[in-house]
Amino acid sequence: MKHLIIGGVAGGATAAARIRRADEQAEIVLIEKGKYISYANCGLPYYLGGVIEERESLFVQTPATFSRRFAIDVRVEQEVVKIDTAAHSVTVRRSDGSTYTETYDRLLLSPGSTPVRPPLPGIDTEGIFTLRNVEDTDRIKHYMDTHSVKRAVVVGGGFIGLEMAENLHRAGAHVDIVEMADQVMAPVDFSTASHVHRELLTQGVGLYLGTGVTGFKVRDGRIEVSTNKDQTLTADLVLLSIGVRPSTQLAADAGIALGTRGIKVDDYLQTSAPDVYAVGDAIEFNHPLTGEPWLNYLAGPANRQARIVADNMVGGNHTPYEGAIGTAIAKVFGLTVASTGLAAKRLEQLGMDYQTSITTSAAHAGYYPNSFQLTTLLTFDPATGRLYGAQCVGSEGADKRIDQLALIIKHGGTVADLTRLEHAYAPPFSSAKDAIAIAGYAASNIVSGAMPVVSWRELRDMDRSAITLIDTRTEDEFAIGTIPGAINIPVDDLRQRIGEVPHDKPIVVFCAVGLRGYLAQRILLGRGFKDVRNLSGGYKTYDLATAPVDPPCGEELRREEERVLSPTVEKVEWGSAAASPSGEAQGGLSASPVLLDACGLQCPGPILKLKKAMDQLKPGEVLRVKATDAAFPTDARAWCNTTGNIFEGHESDGGYHVVTVRKGAGCEAPSASCGSPLEKNKTLIMFSDDLDKALATFVLANGAAATGHKVSIFFTFWGLNVLKKEQKPQVRKDIFGRMFSWMLPSSSRKLSLSKMSMMGVGDRMMRHIMTRKNIYSLEEMRQQAIDNGVEFIACQMSMDMMGIQREELLDNVTIGGVASYMERAEKANVNLFI
Ligand SMILES: Cc1cc2nc3c(=O)[nH]c(=O)nc-3n(C[C@H](O)[C@H](O)[C@H](O)COP(=O)(O)OP(=O)(O)OC[C@H]3O[C@@H](n4cnc5c(N)ncnc54)[C@H](O)[C@@H]3O)c2cc1C
Repeated sequence: MKHLIIGGVAGGATAAARIRRADEQAEIVLIEKGKYISYANCGLPYYLGGVIEERESLFVQTPATFSRRFAIDVRVEQEVVKIDTAAHSVTVRRSDGSTYTETYDRLLLSPGSTPVRPPLPGIDTEGIFTLRNVEDTDRIKHYMDTHSVKRAVVVGGGFIGLEMAENLHRAGAHVDIVEMADQVMAPVDFSTASHVHRELLTQGVGLYLGTGVTGFKVRDGRIEVSTNKDQTLTADLVLLSIGVRPSTQLAADAGIALGTRGIKVDDYLQTSAPDVYAVGDAIEFNHPLTGEPWLNYLAGPANRQARIVADNMVGGNHTPYEGAIGTAIAKVFGLTVASTGLAAKRLEQLGMDYQTSITTSAAHAGYYPNSFQLTTLLTFDPATGRLYGAQCVGSEGADKRIDQLALIIKHGGTVADLTRLEHAYAPPFSSAKDAIAIAGYAASNIVSGAMPVVSWRELRDMDRSAITLIDTRTEDEFAIGTIPGAINIPVDDLRQRIGEVPHDKPIVVFCAVGLRGYLAQRILLGRGFKDVRNLSGGYKTYDLATAPVDPPCGEELRREEERVLSPTVEKVEWGSAAASPSGEAQGGLSASPVLLDACGLQCPGPILKLKKAMDQLKPGEVLRVKATDAAFPTDARAWCNTTGNIFEGHESDGGYHVVTVRKGAGCEAPSASCGSPLEKNKTLIMFSDDLDKALATFVLANGAAATGHKVSIFFTFWGLNVLKKEQKPQVRKDIFGRMFSWMLPSSSRKLSLSKMSMMGVGDRMMRHIMTRKNIYSLEEMRQQAIDNGVEFIACQMSMDMMGIQREELLDNVTIGGVASYMERAEKANVNLFI
């Protein structure tokens, strides 16, 4: 029997080796158009970043070793250009252009997929790459070795794009990621992706979400990447990673049936043509959960299909392929993100009834050192509890949890099955109640009706005046940050303060991750309250998922530029000084920083430890705190800003965050360093949306900014209309949000004068006179303010109330609450309400 295989990497090489093991007498010919076979394409980004040091490590086999071990006729740098299914032959083109015909008894297609390269202006500029194979890798490596790559733009935030972003960062470049969707990693839900957003931002990566690249230009020896948001990013190297297409042309030309996008195969991986089989990225197969055809660009399924198809090619069609539900994992700096099965957004598209549950637990026992948090999102049938999908994100343990979940989902398991899972436990590895069991308990409570929940998205869109929102965390946690509109009743005080909870409105309770919220919910339900829901995933999920994703600026940008300019700068090694494992501050009082270990603690643990240690220091002394809570750098910065201490920066690596804080003089004894009234900052509250008042605001702001003072404008209530974009994306709104949209000006161009508006005549007259007299328009003044560094803060509470979405406002706007305003007002000597 003569077996001919097209494609010599994941699917092709695996099938060839298996055929040989099954049939020692078979003739096997493997044809590969590239120079290499059987290499690790999944390792290519890590070789470019220097994690894999030896290029040779990428090759599992060379054509010579493979040929010798398996007695296979390996022909590299030869491309199959035509298949004649009737004649059982193919036409092969050699690298010198000559062609020949080769026959087969059985043919396997494993041609993989090709990266998408959109026909954008300037796409062929030198320095723009895609990454698919060793040849691409060699080209990128050579370019990086011969050019100074200080800035890189990665177009596309998928798995490969993110791996490349990390590795380019590791190679010393500042990286910007441009992604058309509103999140990275399309297969996971937004709340899971928001962990990745935070990790990327923490590492100094610029993240441009909801943004499309429109073209490339070379200016002063660098590549300018322009976007549909009128931004221009500068790069020395651009990596396009916007997806792949299955390589189906050869099959289509031969009359082999295609499905919706890939080569159609039956249960035995045979195509429509006799004796022709296909595997890997190029095929489509029905999804085991939906029954819909889909493509799965992953190495695991390609290898498994190859093994099955080899058996069928040798022994006849006896082994069916059961399909893959799509189980994938990626490392993004210190974070691991993994997913399996169907995400909530996919279920939404399919119109399937589903429920989600988000839980956060320690990946291993919290009392054992260096415990990281692991967040698990489950999707399931709300009636039966049948699992549809799962996502895990954290710095530890996501890999083993997702594999367990994939197994259960693939076998039709339910959320209750998660609670029955037996897992190995010792403190360094997990907890007696494992993260998966906890996810199962929470989801089972939802299915049984014991714990009605609300998702972060539902809560975000809720009319806050129609509910009572209770933050059940401690007063300390509440003080650091909460959800706008929440009242604070710690769960331990709830029974004593039950009289404060109104009976006439639905209640939503929340805590940090969901457990205390659930306890509070049971107390309230047990005491006669009827409609009480717990926020799934708690404040942590809500806060992360609703946080604005802004590219690095200010301190972050400065640190990132420093890192890129001096890549050899020595990091202070945490382990080099005495850190107390007990968490007590240790170290000298003057030159060397005091070190504090807050690893394994969840918010607000690290902040409370930081506060306690700072209380013991003298002004000017420095504290370095190491924590595993990913929100710690942001929280520590906010804490410093409100307490008069100085946030000196942070380093994040491998899931650990080391924050450096200098003791300030304290706000009781104001000094310039703690942002005291000695500063001459200005704040303005823009409450109105009258055209004349808006003009006056920007005149004042620009004037103050021109004198070198930091100016912040807090836009609240009607003032938000001044910030509305003219071209707004489509956003989802509830009925009240839509009513507000109809009644309010749609952009700054529709603002009216506070006097003499006369049904719009006065407004147009005012704009006309301003043009004639060469006075800048409102929009020009507003842009000048942005260019002058004036900070625009949009009031979160007003946005929630009026149903205004982030996407409707100018890109340069920061979303903040009253605390953001108060923090700035305390440092200002002029505060105006307009
Ligand atoms: C950078 C990168 C990182 C990845 N990381 C992961 C990961 O971490 N995890 C994961 O599961 N998956 C990962 N993947 C995806 C995984 O590599 C693919 O899903 C898998 O290789 C698909 O196997 P395949 O045999 O279908 O295609 P390939 O392995 O791509 O092999 C196809 C081969 O066919 C050859 N060929 C095509 N047409 C012809 C022709 N007409 N004649 C001769 N030869 C031809 C091509 O040159 C190619 O070498 C990654 C892919 C890349 C590019």
